[in-house]
Amino acid sequence: MTISQFIRVLPKAEIHVHLEGAIQPETVLALARRHNQLDRLPAADVAGLRRWFTFTDFPHFVKIYLTIQDLLRTPADFELIAYQCGVDMAAQNIRYREATVTPFTHTDYQNKGLTIDDILAGLEAGRQRAAAEFGVEIRWVFDIPRNLSFRNGGYSPVPAERTLEYALAGRNRGVVGFGLGGYEVGAPPEPFAHVFARAKPTGLLCVPHAGETAGPDSVWGAVRQLQADRIGHGVRAIEDPALLVELRARQIPLEINPTSNVCLGVYRRLAEHPLPHLDRMGLKITVNSDDPPLFNTSLSHEYQFLLDEFGYSQADVIRLARNAFEVCGVEPDVKTRLLSDFDRRVTGLGTDI
Ligand SMILES: [Zn+2]
Repeated sequence: MTISQFIRVLPKAEIHVHLEGAIQPETVLALARRHNQLDRLPAADVAGLRRWFTFTDFPHFVKIYLTIQDLLRTPADFELIAYQCGVDMAAQNIRYREATVTPFTHTDYQNKGLTIDDILAGLEAGRQRAAAEFGVEIRWVFDIPRNLSFRNGGYSPVPAERTLEYALAGRNRGVVGFGLGGYEVGAPPEPFAHVFARAKPTGLLCVPHAGETAGPDSVWGAVRQLQADRIGHGVRAIEDPALLVELRARQIPLEINPTSNVCLGVYRRLAEHPLPHLDRMGLKITVNSDDPPLFNTSLSHEYQFLLDEFGYSQADVIRLARNAFEVCGVEPDVKTRLLSDFDRRVTGLGTDI
């Protein structure tokens, strides 16, 4: 069996991927056509758009992100991207995905006349269609856009409170997690403690981004003040031995996105990425793709790097793949089924290539 065959048959779960950042160029074109906005795109064909998508720097990345968000205007648009998320899962044998959505930017920040019910209805229709056609399970994390909370020099609780309200409205429509995303510098976790304290007793999994664009202090804040159940990224915990001890002792999972970290300049190249060290130290590690087409990657590519770049054995890759199923926020009965499917499928794998 070749490496790519092995990765293909390995059942995978992905717990850190942004729905808006996972839209493929084909879907961006379809949305632009749907809304007569083709002239807003730099190219009217897939190849041209794919070139535009290729990561150059952070401002360019933000520009693409905002362009995509502006094309999401109706419940049918959200249905389309949720369904396409399922198509991509089927193609890569991703059996479960916990995708992050940032509803506040659609309902409040960009004034498009969309309500949270429009968004939830669209997401639910797409998610159900994908489940029926491909047997894949999708759940949602609703995250606070942290930078919109620190405008005009002070902290505004509005984005956080609205996002919690939206997440609670979606509890019976696939929302399982509550997150905090964006650029950490100048937007520390501590001020958000008021909403995470309210989210926790509702059963929402608390999954803030921390330790990506800022260092260990941000991870400490997420752990101590936000009671994080998992850390989005968290790789910069490597800079603080006491923090590593804490994360290992409590087995707080890290959602690691190697290619994303290299694109955004957290590490210069994969060879310098701390993933294997964090794993060897006994932290609970998962592998994810963050915004795959924008970083010209896929979850399968990220798994490939474990073998090609980090020298992992097949057995270790299987162990990391299982971690993602173990720490996901899906309902317990579904998790049990996903884990037993996983164990059945990997029987016989794990003998090195
Ligand atoms: Zn992310």
